[in-house]
Amino acid sequence: MSEEILPRIREEIAALPPYRQGKQAGADAFKLSSNENPFEPLPSVVAALTAGAPINRYPDATAGALRARLGERYGVAPDAVHVASGSVAILYQLVAAAATVGDEVVYAWRSFEAYPGLPLVAGATGVQVPLTADSRHDLDAMAAAITERTRVVIVCTPNNPTGPIVTSAEFAAFVAQVPRDVLIVLDEAYAEFVTAPDAVDGLAERVFETHPNVVVLRTFSKAYGLAGLRIGYAIGHPRVLDAARTTAIPLSVTAAAEGAAIASLDAEDELRARVAVIVERRAELVAGLRAQGWDVPDAQGNFVWLPTGDATADVAAAFEDAGLIVRAFPGDGIRISVGEAESLPRVLAVAAAQR
Ligand SMILES: *Cc1c(COP(=O)(O)O)cnc(C)c1O
Repeated sequence: MSEEILPRIREEIAALPPYRQGKQAGADAFKLSSNENPFEPLPSVVAALTAGAPINRYPDATAGALRARLGERYGVAPDAVHVASGSVAILYQLVAAAATVGDEVVYAWRSFEAYPGLPLVAGATGVQVPLTADSRHDLDAMAAAITERTRVVIVCTPNNPTGPIVTSAEFAAFVAQVPRDVLIVLDEAYAEFVTAPDAVDGLAERVFETHPNVVVLRTFSKAYGLAGLRIGYAIGHPRVLDAARTTAIPLSVTAAAEGAAIASLDAEDELRARVAVIVERRAELVAGLRAQGWDVPDAQGNFVWLPTGDATADVAAAFEDAGLIVRAFPGDGIRISVGEAESLPRVLAVAAAQR
């Protein structure tokens, strides 16, 4: 039998395992592995899905209605808003636009599992800067890691998967240290869940106006519960966002997603009430886990972090046996999303048994 010949693939791509999604939950299991919103979509949002443009037609390539709406809301021109099929898409667009072979992309580690793929796909080099002992960004070390090859620095707040925020003061001091020609991406996917009063808020503080190298990312996937529709946005300098528009795959934001996002902004109060419920559940989980002796870092997103270290695989198996799908990072820890009310006592029971 002759060896099958396949097309040549770039070595650094072929060396990696392909993306595999976390396990799908069985009938009576809770899926707490992807930081999704546990609530059913609002009827008004479902109605917007079917009221959108006909599906035999292409969508508005610029998502103009949503960009106008977001521009109004944040007091910026529509050109200072960029919409894509999830904020992960915008991360790829920005890194592809700014970095190539020989360039560096700096980010904290452990952080969002999508970050290592960004420089890889662009042919650039990723530079990981370890978190502090309390699982926070070490912004001084990140600033020190910047060289003349650095093109992009990513700051994730609250940090996925560990939970803590970056403060306004820390971010301001960091931005002041970063060369003005290096792009800073402030990934605020969980901004709506933050309760820490000193947390940076890139949109409220309008950092992108004083520092045009800062782009703020937000998403409809988490607080707004639209993960399945794939829609997120960036706010920043129009010329920087033009670069993301150039590298974007055209027409990937559907009219259905755009319509649902606008309907969600119309229903903001109802959705914020749900976020408040998730924040209450988060406090309950953190308090319960800490009372059991777990060293849970400050949880400011819709998830909690268990630093399970070498026991990670065993503890994750115990959660799965109990019908709780969690996200395990072998050798490091376990991220558990704040989900349905009924999942909380189950999470706490399994965690207690693992102490
Ligand atoms: C979930 C998440 C995103 C957003 O993902 P979408 O592509 O908008 O669904 C971005 N950044 C981080 C850190 C996340 O956890």
